[in-house]
Amino acid sequence: MYYKRKVKKGPIIAIIVIILVIIVTVCGINLYKYYTSDEYRLGEAGYSEKEIKEILKFDEKYITYAMEHKYEDDFIPLMKQKYFLWKNYDAYIKYIDDVYGDQKVDYEKVVSLVNVGANNEPYTHTKKADMSKGNAILVNKYTSLPEKYAPDDFVEMSNWYAYPNNRIRKEVYDAFREMFNAAKEENLTLIVNSSYRSYEEQKEIYDDYDNNRGREYADKYAARPDFSEHQTGLSIDVFAPGSNMSNFESTDEFKWLSENSYKYGFILRYPKGKEDITGYNYEAWHYRYVGKDLAEKVFESGLTYDEYYAYYLDK
Ligand SMILES: [Zn+2]
Repeated sequence: MYYKRKVKKGPIIAIIVIILVIIVTVCGINLYKYYTSDEYRLGEAGYSEKEIKEILKFDEKYITYAMEHKYEDDFIPLMKQKYFLWKNYDAYIKYIDDVYGDQKVDYEKVVSLVNVGANNEPYTHTKKADMSKGNAILVNKYTSLPEKYAPDDFVEMSNWYAYPNNRIRKEVYDAFREMFNAAKEENLTLIVNSSYRSYEEQKEIYDDYDNNRGREYADKYAARPDFSEHQTGLSIDVFAPGSNMSNFESTDEFKWLSENSYKYGFILRYPKGKEDITGYNYEAWHYRYVGKDLAEKVFESGLTYDEYYAYYLDK
């Protein structure tokens, strides 16, 4: 018996519908994936393909930030700075807007200045030094000692090492004598001209300038009391016999100190060319004791102590 084979349409339609559903679903998932992808969202935020590639190399939280905020042309160059600190991001942006306008931005400098607080005027936005840091404490024009601070482990330096007489903390004295002897072996003589200065002594120096020459002059040439490193008992002004502030830089003693002081725990505190970071004129003679381990790290980093502290120690 012959009968026309009936094609049943029901299952075919069902199969077609299932295939369509699968296609739409796959496309939908892909589209969804695309529109929620980091690439897409960064593009929506305004970043170019090239910029997106760079941003995707950053940590996730920074990628998220870029996606959630409007386009910022300083974002990538800032993020690439070695000493970039996320907590300072908004301050970097504000400083760039305030200072540079449309001019070419020196991002390395922006990061340095903001990290140490030098985007603010000296003696504004000040905070108290973290005294728990011991020999590593930071004291500068933005970070003050506790009011009328004085260490309690002084020793008197012998005239062999210091002239005129000076008091210094014992550990610093021991370190200085070790350094003195090492220099002596090279026929070099180091003389401490100034070391510990009390709150009262520093106040007298500052007030004298302030009264006679005005505040601007005083701030340029003296630290305010409680803001002076000399008040920590960890700093020394070192000269060679017969040298002074204007010529110490050209002595063999200075050359030797530049290469060796860190081995004894001392760092040059106010280097040349870093005046806007430290807030002080270049002082070839001012050394700060931080201990041997830390001094070596600071020396190797090539940073000022303000920068080093802000990046590595201010936790
Ligand atoms: Zn000094």
